[in-house]
Amino acid sequence: MRAARMYGRRDLRVVDLPELGSPPPGWVRLRVEACGICGTDLEVYLNAPRSDEPPLSAADGPLTMGHEPAGVVVETGPDVDLQVGQRVAVEGHLFCDTCFWCRRGDYALCATLRSTGQGADGGLAEEMLVPARICLPYADTLAPEHAALAEPTSVACRAVRRARLEPGSTVVVVGGGSIGLLLSQVARLRGAGQVVVVEPVKRRRELATCLGADLAVAPEDAGQALADLTEGVGADVAFEAGGRPETVRRALEWTRKGGRTVLLGVTNGTLELDLLSFLLSEKELVASLSHTYDVDFPEAVRLLETGQVQVEPLISDRISLDQVVTHGFEALLAEPDAHLKVVVLPNGPVEPARAADLEATG
Ligand SMILES: [Zn+2]
Ligand SMILES: [Zn+2]
Repeated sequence: MRAARMYGRRDLRVVDLPELGSPPPGWVRLRVEACGICGTDLEVYLNAPRSDEPPLSAADGPLTMGHEPAGVVVETGPDVDLQVGQRVAVEGHLFCDTCFWCRRGDYALCATLRSTGQGADGGLAEEMLVPARICLPYADTLAPEHAALAEPTSVACRAVRRARLEPGSTVVVVGGGSIGLLLSQVARLRGAGQVVVVEPVKRRRELATCLGADLAVAPEDAGQALADLTEGVGADVAFEAGGRPETVRRALEWTRKGGRTVLLGVTNGTLELDLLSFLLSEKELVASLSHTYDVDFPEAVRLLETGQVQVEPLISDRISLDQVVTHGFEALLAEPDAHLKVVVLPNGPVEPARAADLEATG
């Protein structure tokens, strides 16, 4: 079996592995049809500790990357309800289900959390083993490449939930990458009145308005545009999806007094906060971490199945597993603005009937 394995910082290799064998109780073996690459993967690729150090290491050393897979069940372990041949999207969290946070349903905060592609083998492989519980069957009308975007869509669903969006709210999304473009769609579906996307790359701004944003502006124009839209008070909710301290600062700045700033971009940086003005503005700063298998993920899959969230326009590249380094990770690093969502097809292109579907919806 072929898999893209991380051996250390910026050292990803497509290698032959022994066959995976039968899944244990409660698990299934999937043939991976599609797996997205996202910003978090790039963070791991660039900044992960050596492969023999936690949290990257799988039990046996090098780690198969990929946390946005969709696949077909090819074998089920005991005590599994899924059927062989069923198509599923994979949520990805391997949580203990017994700790304080799991008992509250906050699975992403699990004391011993690992995820596919981060701490456990992921989906950039021809096949993978995964707990059945985090595999969600999806309708045959949804293409596997689109199902692979259930994971980032569920990130957006959670962030919108964390924002406690009120109907008619003015929302600003800082960062028009895949997550930002999904967020702007989900926020609109969940009642946002005005949606403004702030993004430096012109092509992404055009895409944002195609996907339903009311306004897409460059960062230097955003302050004025928001002031014009909101009688000078700022957005009810700002989502930070840029993943840099600077974009966090701007998101806070563009949030109105008494409004909410939701952080979901991944960054290692730090931010200085003027505590007096923060207090006087009574803003809320809320973090939103990934998703849950039982709430956010099913919501995302339904939004994709029903076509309420459009993902085909976000897919910039479809590549083979062998191209994962050159046309995937390194291409995204070399020319981040030239790509959006790169989807890897580890078992080759999807079958023709589905390709026809894609053209019809694309
Ligand atoms: Zn992701
Ligand atoms: Zn737990």
